[in-house]
Amino acid sequence: MNICQTNSKLVLRLSKKLLLLLILQFSFLISISGYLLSQENALDLTDFKNRAETIKNLGLSQEKAYEFLKILTSVGSRLTGSPEAARAVELMVRLMSDLGFDQVWKEPVQVNHWVRGKAEKGLVKSQKFGQRRINICALGNSIGTPSNGIEAGVVEVNTFDRLSELKETIEGKIVFFNVPMDRTIVEPFAAYGRAAQFRLRGASEAARYGARAVLIRSVTYRIDDYPHTGLMVYDEQYPKIPAAAISTSDAERLSRWLKDDPELRIFLKMHCQQLEPVISSNVIGQLTGTEKPEEIILVGGHLDSWDLSPGAHDDASGCVVAIEALRLIKESGLRPKRTIRAVLFMDEEFGGTGGRAYVRAEARQKEKHLVAIEQDHGGFVPIGLAIGGGERVLNKIKTIENILKPLGINWIRTGGGGVDIGPLVEQGVIPGSLIPDSQRYFDYHHSALDVPSAVHPRELEFQAIILAIVVYFLAQEGL
Ligand SMILES: [Zn+2]
Repeated sequence: MNICQTNSKLVLRLSKKLLLLLILQFSFLISISGYLLSQENALDLTDFKNRAETIKNLGLSQEKAYEFLKILTSVGSRLTGSPEAARAVELMVRLMSDLGFDQVWKEPVQVNHWVRGKAEKGLVKSQKFGQRRINICALGNSIGTPSNGIEAGVVEVNTFDRLSELKETIEGKIVFFNVPMDRTIVEPFAAYGRAAQFRLRGASEAARYGARAVLIRSVTYRIDDYPHTGLMVYDEQYPKIPAAAISTSDAERLSRWLKDDPELRIFLKMHCQQLEPVISSNVIGQLTGTEKPEEIILVGGHLDSWDLSPGAHDDASGCVVAIEALRLIKESGLRPKRTIRAVLFMDEEFGGTGGRAYVRAEARQKEKHLVAIEQDHGGFVPIGLAIGGGERVLNKIKTIENILKPLGINWIRTGGGGVDIGPLVEQGVIPGSLIPDSQRYFDYHHSALDVPSAVHPRELEFQAIILAIVVYFLAQEGL
């Protein structure tokens, strides 16, 4: 072994050591950068809590949601196809543009154009106690009466089974569906669902046995003089007959009067009619995601309302809390990683054409919606959060449970959904909904009472604040 050989062996051994050292260093660097990366990706709850606090303080100190509600309801009622609905579209485009959202645009929707015409007239005529006026309103989609009205005897029923039992007596009569909302059901929407079926399909069920018209007890817990409208549909198998709602006070009186005088007659005059469909719009505004702009967190409500009021709860509130949620995120200086989009759907009330047009739009084909949150339960203080997608999603959202609880969110559970986001959910998008305390909702729903003064600015703002925190969390964390 000469020196030269020894030297070359030494060099070889040294270079092996160096290589080992390099490998060790490299793997250390990889693991440390991986660690740092995972630290960066993990949600820093303290930091998120601070951001949520900023959103909350901004919202509660400014109460902008109610300001937006006043703007939207300033056009009056927003029946699909009406000039007021068209004005609401333009107002909301302007509002979201003025707020500086990254993108604001409209998408076309073909909508129904039903008009009420002059106010309806309803009279009870009795040989025993003379003539009395009743408070009625045509149901949406109903045909009118002949121009000289309809006068007929009355049959009162409280179930479809009872109607069927009495079928021999229905011919030529006005059927009076006197079905109150079940007060023993805790969740008002469940009670509503049961009672509203008489409004929805009572006319055709009665027309099947030869009825001339139907009167439906208004779907509300409240006993008052305000009739509540809402959608009815005809079964094409049977003749179309006029359908109207009667106020709950008059429903109770009519029921008593019928016991007193079963021969009493009712006179109805309704001027409503169906006009040609109209092209209207969904209105959309968004904060575009900085990292994954094609992934979308949607939050929305419906822009249309019934025609008896400006629909402050139903659903101007849903529209404005969506807008305010985006504004709160933007004004807090936060830039979401994924896109947060507010969608004001046109036409929830006449069957959801806006929701269907939204999923069919060409732009949707390049997008991926992660969650769609629909707010259509009134502008009351939120008490819970419902979200679909199963345990995995539920557990993820529960990461911020302790941030939502002090804001009044008592529970987070499986659920969510609605007419407008139905077509998205059918495609597998996860539904969500912030659930307010809805015990008073049906006092106002679809009646002349659904006005801005029925909405409390602070309660409404809580919806926007919690929505902002939830959608910002989803935009950062994904699902
Ligand atoms: Zn609604």
